[in-house]
Amino acid sequence: MLSYQHAYHAGNIADVHKHLALYGVIDHLLRKDSGVTYIDTHAGRGAYSVTAPEMARGLEYEDGVAPLMRMTPHHPLLSEWLLRLGQQQDNPQKLMFYPGSPWWLADRLRAQDRLELFELHPGEFTHLEHQTFLARAQCRQTDGLAGVVARLPSSTPRTMVIIDPSFELKQEYSDVAETVSRIQQMARHAIVLIWYPLLPAARHQELLDHISALGVRKVWRSELVRRDPGAQRGMYGSGLLIVNPPWQVPEQLDDALAEVAGCWGEQAGHTSSWWCPE
Ligand code: SAM
Repeated sequence: MLSYQHAYHAGNIADVHKHLALYGVIDHLLRKDSGVTYIDTHAGRGAYSVTAPEMARGLEYEDGVAPLMRMTPHHPLLSEWLLRLGQQQDNPQKLMFYPGSPWWLADRLRAQDRLELFELHPGEFTHLEHQTFLARAQCRQTDGLAGVVARLPSSTPRTMVIIDPSFELKQEYSDVAETVSRIQQMARHAIVLIWYPLLPAARHQELLDHISALGVRKVWRSELVRRDPGAQRGMYGSGLLIVNPPWQVPEQLDDALAEVAGCWGEQAGHTSSWWCPE
């Protein structure tokens, strides 16, 4: 039985990393008129309120998005993302509502685009299917990894997938790698964002090695560290792979994420490299 609930973690360092990257990728996709199918394999409940007991207990946003909302950003991608986030608050510098990945996807959905969401947890799914901003989305309470493969190839000319598991089961690292390989076989040009945690046990290495052993091509890797790995228990940073990253998105993210790390202080930093060549 699944126990993870993203409400305890909303707005944390991982959300900053993946939602900023998602925003940058969507920016690029919107430059062309042709339709996009967006598939979110692990959607969560869609949006989070700071007054919800889980978010008030976790308080992880205080270490993640909250300091960014009080800074003066310089990089255009970071400032546009923070502006859009600020527009959802009563006071743009004080977090009350944190949008999850389905919100960021739905926010810029055009008539020609499609949005498909998977969420397995019954409680989270109930929230998800009642979100009014998801009126045009298809929500399914089934396994997102099997689900995305079953939905490909999509009916639109372009496809973007976000895979953001909770990694409650060790098996998920290799399951995700195999799913990414299947996606590339079925939709060679699909853009795929895969999130993973940076933990002292370094389990993400299995995901990275498996992806490369399966021959997935054109994979860019970005790692955003919040604190020294030995400083305290638990997640010290956030990792992201982007398969088929759009032109100049890696460079934009390098600059924007360096600014994020600068705001977070001396222990924070961002590194990136090509994990698998073209
Ligand atoms: N992507 C969300 C966001 O950025 O706002 C957060 C997702 S959270 C990290 C992971 C979610 O995946 C949890 O809500 C969990 O219930 C759900 N989940 C776990 N295993 C799943 C599976 N096999 N298929 C679909 N959802 C799953």
